Amino acid sequence: MKLTKLTAVLIALSLSAGAMAAKHDVNIKFSKGISKKQRKFMDRDLEVLEKLEFFRDADQETLKVMGLQKLNSKTATTWLEQRVAFVIEETDWKKIEKKISIEEKFFSFENQNVEPTIERPTSAPTGEGVVVMSNLGAALYYAGKSSRSLFSYPIKTGLFKKEKVKFSSPRAGLIMIGEGHFMDRFDHDQDNKDAKANSFGRLSTFFHEARHSDGAGKNLGFFHAVCPDGHDFQGYNACDRNLNGPYAVGAQMTKEFLKNCDDCDDVVKEKMKVSYLASVDRIIIETKKPGSSDSFDVTTLEFSLEMKEMLLAFQSGAEKEAAMKEITELKAKILAISESEGTIEVTASQYIDASPEGERID
Ligand SMILES: [Zn+2]
Repeated sequence: MKLTKLTAVLIALSLSAGAMAAKHDVNIKFSKGISKKQRKFMDRDLEVLEKLEFFRDADQETLKVMGLQKLNSKTATTWLEQRVAFVIEETDWKKIEKKISIEEKFFSFENQNVEPTIERPTSAPTGEGVVVMSNLGAALYYAGKSSRSLFSYPIKTGLFKKEKVKFSSPRAGLIMIGEGHFMDRFDHDQDNKDAKANSFGRLSTFFHEARHSDGAGKNLGFFHAVCPDGHDFQGYNACDRNLNGPYAVGAQMTKEFLKNCDDCDDVVKEKMKVSYLASVDRIIIETKKPGSSDSFDVTTLEFSLEMKEMLLAFQSGAEKEAAMKEITELKAKILAISESEGTIEVTASQYIDASPEGERID
């Protein structure tokens, strides 16, 4: 090919790329593998955030949860940018594993010997869940830290552009999106797919996920806690045992969007309220633990509980499921007796330090 012809091709390419340019300046990079449709929604969402006039003062609670002095489009987009650097398409774990490289062995991590709190669920997800969004950066940072290696992951961001994320901090900011993020049934406004309210819904999820880029030591990644007995998500890792985790962030942002949505009708506003309350419901306010008791009833039940928990490792399928149910019931019984005996220990959840460990490197 002659040089002039090649130049013409390149110009044609850059023009077509230019025509697709996003209408916002939010500094988050997208993988080329994301479908055009999904990319369009995400660009639109960021544009909505960037142009949103936060004409009502933010709740004190929002500022406290987010760690901000002020909430406006600038501080909100910056908050997101600090925690999200790249968005990639849904990719299965095997493929991800294959693409991970070790940049540096014996990398020096902060809090190298402190394990994050990861609560073990007592219920396993049923069926194939649909991916909405997940913070891969926090997971890969933790995986690298556990093996004392600095991991990296390549991302194609353009026709000739490849970037490399290095997981030197949970702030690496690698987010994966799936079909679930764009599903009609999650829309606040069912009549108009392009409604601002639908961007707000997806943005709240984005803010939730971004919070997983925070935390240090035992609070690394703000991993979810197991929802308590009696909760809709009992036994699942779908709650927070703190007051400023991902669910609090998502809830507060939903509330702020609701307050500042001038063109949301009552039906839409009602949906946003429901969504706010659903997130608030995931925040565990206090944790009850049976204190030490020497009553015969409690010690007998505790012995039985210990046996059942030990046997769990050797069980599977329906048998295991039944055993898990019995364990939950036993725990509830012990708790009820401790409550009546007055030996129960109640711990109130706290606002935890969200500062991340490590820092982003290029
Ligand atoms: Zn989460």
